[in-house]
Amino acid sequence: MFTHFGLSGPAILNLSSYLSRYSKFPVKISIDLLPQPSLGQVEDTLSSCLKQNGSRHLKNALGSLLPQKMSPVIFDIADLDPRKLVSQVTRGDINLLARTLKGLTVTVTGTRLLNEAIITSGGIDTKEINPSTLESKIIRGLYFAGEVIDVDALTGGYNLQIAFSTGYLSGLSASL
Ligand SMILES: Cc1cc2nc3c(=O)[nH]c(=O)nc-3n(C[C@H](O)[C@H](O)[C@H](O)COP(=O)(O)OP(=O)(O)OC[C@H]3O[C@@H](n4cnc5c(N)ncnc54)[C@H](O)[C@@H]3O)c2cc1C
Repeated sequence: MFTHFGLSGPAILNLSSYLSRYSKFPVKISIDLLPQPSLGQVEDTLSSCLKQNGSRHLKNALGSLLPQKMSPVIFDIADLDPRKLVSQVTRGDINLLARTLKGLTVTVTGTRLLNEAIITSGGIDTKEINPSTLESKIIRGLYFAGEVIDVDALTGGYNLQIAFSTGYLSGLSASL
C-alpha cells in the first residue's frame, strides 16, 4: 500500500520487523508490481496495449494497464516522457517500463514512531523468564505477558495469540 507517509500493508509490516532488527536505514527495497508474469510477458502485454493505441500519447495509451495515480510516478522513475507518441516508443522504452514495473526501487528511511506501532520488537529477554510459568528469573513473584516480552511474530493473528497464551499462563501461574 502506498500512503501519504510512505509504504504500509501486511507485506511492509512483516518486512519492518526484519528491517528494524537486521538493517540500518536508509534501506532500498525493490517492489515487483506484477509478480506473476515474467519480464518478457510484461513487455508483450505493454507492446500489444501500445499497438492498439498507435496514435495516442504514452500516458493515455497505458491508462488501462496502470492505476491513474501510479502512471506518472512510473514514467518519472523510468525517465520516460509520458507525452511521447506511441509511434515513437522504442523496444528499449518498453523494456525500461517493464523493468520499472517489475522492480520499483524505493528508499525506506525508517519505521513509524512507537505510538503508531502495531507490534513492538524488544522487551524482557526470554532468557530471564521461566517458560513454564512466565515468572521472572530475577524477581520472584513477577510474571510477564504479551508485548512486554521480547517476542514478536509476523502479522496474521500470531501476536494476539502470544498475548492470549502468555496472559493465560502468567495469570494462572501468579494465582497458584
Ligand atoms: C492497529 C493494530 C492492529 C493490530 N492487528 C493485529 C492483528 O491483526 N493480529 C495480531 O496478532 N495482532 C495485532 N495487533 C497487535 C496486538 O493487538 C498486540 O500484540 C496485543 O494486543 C498485545 O497485547 P498486550 O496485552 O500485550 O498489550 P495491550 O493490548 O497493549 O494491552 C496493554 C494494556 O495495558 C494498559 N496499560 C498500559 N499502561 C498501564 C498502566 N501503567 N497501568 C494500567 N494499565 C496500563 C493499556 O491501556 C492496555 O489496555 C494489532 C495492534 C494494533 C495497534
